[in-house]
Amino acid sequence: MSEAQKVLLVTGGSRGIGAAICRLGSRAGYRVAVNYATNRNAADALVAEIRAAGGEAFPVKGNVGVESDVVAMFGAVDRAYGRLDAFVNNAGIVDLKARVDEMYVARLERMMRVNVVGAFLCAREAVKRMSTRHGGSGGAIVNVSSAAATLGSPGEYVDYAASKGAVDTLTIGLAREVALEGIRVNAVRPGIIDTEIHASGGQPDRVERFRDMLPMKRAGTADEVAHAVLYLLSDAASYTTGAILNVSGGR
Ligand code: NAP
Repeated sequence: MSEAQKVLLVTGGSRGIGAAICRLGSRAGYRVAVNYATNRNAADALVAEIRAAGGEAFPVKGNVGVESDVVAMFGAVDRAYGRLDAFVNNAGIVDLKARVDEMYVARLERMMRVNVVGAFLCAREAVKRMSTRHGGSGGAIVNVSSAAATLGSPGEYVDYAASKGAVDTLTIGLAREVALEGIRVNAVRPGIIDTEIHASGGQPDRVERFRDMLPMKRAGTADEVAHAVLYLLSDAASYTTGAILNVSGGR
């Protein structure tokens, strides 16, 4: 692999939307760092798949909600590849269906810790490496928000929706903050995408239940989100920063 080959780090890159971003990123020519939290097997399988297809990838463990993990994760990318050109803040969680009047502090803190604090910590580390202000040579960041940020997810998880509202605001503010430092920052807002996240929130049938209420009468695929992310990372989007692209099938 040439030293000139660009490097992409994707948090939560081992499954679902993140895995689709890693696969497409590899096909687009990036060397890919695949972050995961606990499921080493899924990360190893994806790395093996990328390598078998002729790409370069490695798995990197770390909980984005833990500062020392985030610092170690970016450090591992530094050591493995020596550069960072593209970063995707994709790791995110939902929780069990609950009304706001049923939510406990532990749930709220976990949600905000992973989806908001995690996104900020990772953005911080990415900017430190990419910004011309810090001696970097620029780069692109894409945050994975959610259509929930605009819909509010009543009766399901308003806390999750609010955490993605914060991701939208991070996108707008950071984009303007680093616009003169060679970094573009954008976001995608996926709608209902067919991944395991719904089962992790205790709703394995969520895609099926919502299908008929969706404008296209179908959920999206992880690939469909990944294409939008790869576009925003690419030079084809060179004048696009602070943008939040709905990838929600019109929802
Ligand atoms: P998923 O299938 O549940 O996959 C989650 C990925 O994130 C896994 O790789 C998981 O690693 C990793 N992860 C979870 N918690 C983490 C943490 N604390 N630190 C680091 N990695 C962590 O999720 P998905 O559906 O692909 O969702 C990806 C992103 O899209 C999330 O931000 C989600 O909010 C957003 N989104 C999804 C949908 C949808 O309908 N699917 C819609 C809108 C937005 P392990 O395997 O180790 O657990």
